[in-house]
Amino acid sequence: MEISAIKGDITKQTDVEAIVNAANESLLGGGGVDGAIHYAAGPGLLKECRTLGGCRMGEAKITGAYNLPCKYVIHTVGPRWHGGNNGEERLLRSCYVSCLELAVKNGIRTIDFPSISTGAFGYPVEDASNVAVAAVYEFVKDHPDEFDMIRWVCFDNNTLRYYSRQIGLIQKQLS
Ligand code: ADP
Repeated sequence: MEISAIKGDITKQTDVEAIVNAANESLLGGGGVDGAIHYAAGPGLLKECRTLGGCRMGEAKITGAYNLPCKYVIHTVGPRWHGGNNGEERLLRSCYVSCLELAVKNGIRTIDFPSISTGAFGYPVEDASNVAVAAVYEFVKDHPDEFDMIRWVCFDNNTLRYYSRQIGLIQKQLS
């Protein structure tokens, strides 16, 4: 079981069953990673997303992956940052838990996450990485043997630095 962070484009990963999309409530596409995923997946993804009736913040929905190299896309809607006292942490944690629950339900053992909420939604990367990495380790502790790999695919060096550091800190505490 591997928990890691790499730098890269989440649409280009060829060794995972599912990638997570940081979507918005409509699930009808947007900018950032959402735009990149729809572009790479092709129009079939939007067509399937239209049947889902959107997604609430902190929840997740699963679709096929169409022209992407993976099998599934798990769409989740992160919180917009409004200063940190508006349930942002609880909602971000809920995104990770909802995605991992859907993965378990679908027998998915390898999954890539983007840095949910830290682009257009403005969540500070350091805070988001703390919440995200803690949520994943907690979930894995409660669900041993369900995953082979959980990985963040970070688009830039700064984001990678925070996720790597946070993973390192938790690994050290556990060893
Ligand atoms: P949100 O609206 O949840 O903030 P964004 O897509 O704006 O979502 O940003 C989330 C993170 O995804 C940012 O760190 C952004 O740089 C990153 N990102 C954008 N495109 C990609 C991609 N192709 N692969 C991985 N990460 C990406």
